Amino acid sequence: MVQDHVIIIGNGIAGVTAARHIRKLSDKRITIISSESEYFFSRTALMYVYMGHMQWRHLKPYEDHFWTKNRIQLLKAYVTSIIPEENRIKLKDGRQIEYTQLILATGSEPQKFGWSGQDAKGVQGLYSKQDLELLEKNAPNSEVCKKAVIVGGGLIGIELAEMLSTRGIPVTFLVREKHFWNNVLPAHDAKIIDEHIRKHNIDLRLNTNLEEVITYDKNQVKAVRLKETDEVISCDLVGLTTGVKPRLEMLNQTSIQTNRGVLVNRFLETNYSDIYAIGDCAEQQNPIDQRPPIEAVWYTGKMMGETVAQTICGRRMAYKPGHWFNSAKFFDIEYQTYGWVFPTAKENHQHLHWSHRDGSKAMTINFNQKNNQFVGINTFGMRIRHEVINNWLNEKKSILEVLQQLEKVNFDPEFFKSYEKDIFKSFQKHLQKQEG
Ligand SMILES: Cc1cc2nc3c(=O)[nH]c(=O)nc-3n(C[C@H](O)[C@H](O)[C@H](O)COP(=O)(O)OP(=O)(O)OC[C@H]3O[C@@H](n4cnc5c(N)ncnc54)[C@H](O)[C@@H]3O)c2cc1C
Repeated sequence: MVQDHVIIIGNGIAGVTAARHIRKLSDKRITIISSESEYFFSRTALMYVYMGHMQWRHLKPYEDHFWTKNRIQLLKAYVTSIIPEENRIKLKDGRQIEYTQLILATGSEPQKFGWSGQDAKGVQGLYSKQDLELLEKNAPNSEVCKKAVIVGGGLIGIELAEMLSTRGIPVTFLVREKHFWNNVLPAHDAKIIDEHIRKHNIDLRLNTNLEEVITYDKNQVKAVRLKETDEVISCDLVGLTTGVKPRLEMLNQTSIQTNRGVLVNRFLETNYSDIYAIGDCAEQQNPIDQRPPIEAVWYTGKMMGETVAQTICGRRMAYKPGHWFNSAKFFDIEYQTYGWVFPTAKENHQHLHWSHRDGSKAMTINFNQKNNQFVGINTFGMRIRHEVINNWLNEKKSILEVLQQLEKVNFDPEFFKSYEKDIFKSFQKHLQKQEG
């Protein structure tokens, strides 16, 4: 009997998790293909290499021999096309490889919006290993790069701002929204981060759009022009961090169904029964709960990788992500979110917000006023316990129960002793005002 051959395009968290779990469950032949790097690395830690906290080799969670030991073949190559009717993929170097099952785990690529000058030298995104290498060339220090402008106020934009500022490069940060990441964070949370960004000497410009990138000879960046004011800011680097989109170019000529991402059902299957899509490139045909159809976050890739492995190994399993959670860091403020805290409270929902006067800690709790049910929590500058919140959400705890048990959630009991009363009082005041 011919051995099954699973080909995985993409060696990110999604593809690699799928491969590891398929190996645990089966003896199938497994090949992972990536044009970016030979070995899997932690994309979320790219910034630490530029900042000098880590070296490139520290980003690899597995020793190089792990892959041969587990009989997972790694291929550094670029996939140009897929022929689903013949179960074959084509590589740029002309090779063609047959598969029995194919997993698309091709991740994302930076989005651009057709600005004049967007492809000039000195304009770049921050997504890949190659982007990091380019950043080393474009902005090694404040002598080569005297000034940087970052466009786009999301998680990658703020990371890039922090990275550049550690090398003493002055940064102007253009954010289209009223506050930093205000399309995700409620205004009272987002304002805390605005202040924090400014405290780190970043020139944060809110309600500001890029009009064009101005270049001089040899297509090198010289400045940017702002849309609202026509102001011209001279700079040597433009960081475009205006979001990401699923990477699909190898699907252009195929009949694999796509929308913004590769369309999949709950079982992560595409319109071909032997082709699956996972991680950043996958788009749910029917969104799950209130989740976005494309979830470009690390832990989603991991969970999808684990799930698809079960299906491929004959234990068909639906993707059930559970309660939403995520975390990030805004300079030195740690952010965690669990359940749903939307930027604007939905009908019948209310946000309770507390922040410490020094601007380094905050908490927002969302609950449903109709049945008093706890819906979600955002925290800043404090570490909270995932399993406790998960239980509260599963048990549909009331806001009062949550407030009474708030000390259970914090990793740092000393911290809570000092702030718990303040938090509780502040929330109680909100609630009493509401009732009054
Ligand atoms: C700087 C940065 C910071 C981040 N921080 C966070 C964070 O704090 N928390 C969080 O949840 N998420 C974060 N993310 C997002 C997170 O890293 C991604 O959601 C996750 O890595 C996506 O994993 P993936 O496996 O789907 O795809 P990827 O990691 O993008 O891997 C896909 C791979 O496929 C390769 N590939 C694509 N097309 C082809 C082709 N045709 N041929 C060969 N190879 C191909 C790509 O080159 C790439 O190597 C961050 C992202 C970045 C860039």
